[in-house]
Amino acid sequence: IIAIDGPAGSGKSTTARKVAKRLGFMHINTGAMYRGITYKIIEEKIDSSNMSKINNLLNNTLIEFYGPSDSILYMDGIDMSNKINSTSVTKNVSTISAIPDVREKMVKYQRQMALGKNVVLEGRDIGTIVFPNADFKFFLIADLNVRAERRKKELQDEDQNLSLQAIMDRLRDRDHKDASRKHSPLIKAKDAIGLNTTNISIEEQVNFIINTVNNN
Ligand code: C5P
Repeated sequence: IIAIDGPAGSGKSTTARKVAKRLGFMHINTGAMYRGITYKIIEEKIDSSNMSKINNLLNNTLIEFYGPSDSILYMDGIDMSNKINSTSVTKNVSTISAIPDVREKMVKYQRQMALGKNVVLEGRDIGTIVFPNADFKFFLIADLNVRAERRKKELQDEDQNLSLQAIMDRLRDRDHKDASRKHSPLIKAKDAIGLNTTNISIEEQVNFIINTVNNN
């Protein structure tokens, strides 16, 4: 189990995908799972305090990853990839993912998916809660303005245009919510290896992780 945690836009997804591909491991993007559930809650107009409806949704939704490098999230057999990165999902995901029942269910799913496999998992609480005994733990960080620049480019590729300032505000707000929540907050596990990606390339990040794994 390789755990990769860190704040929004720190390069976790790209890094995890490439590391998994090079090692021939499965890749589980746990953020996509929280985004998928958030999408459904918005779509079905469920109030975030309506726990009976949320639990009903959690208990009746099949979540799977398929496709190249397991990069596509499917919910009930439907490809969710062009739904889960919308502005409304990004705006609401930290509120939904702070709900204890949502976390409990997602963590259970993540442990089941990883059972008996070689896996790279990325998220906020992999090294602390989901797999506290992971074989390798990394915590990625990067300066806010660099993270915002990266995100701006990603959004442009998806035809979403937002100002750098708006993106910085959104990243800051999401990190604050994720780090200050009561239940499994975003925090570096004591035994995680910190990696500041501000001035290094994706290839260097990937090589660093692969070298650490191969040399231990
Ligand atoms: O990784 P990504 O930015 O797509 O994650 C979206 C959101 O999902 C995070 O801001 C956080 O609120 C939530 N999340 C979480 N725990 C994880 C992964 C993501 O709470 N393990």
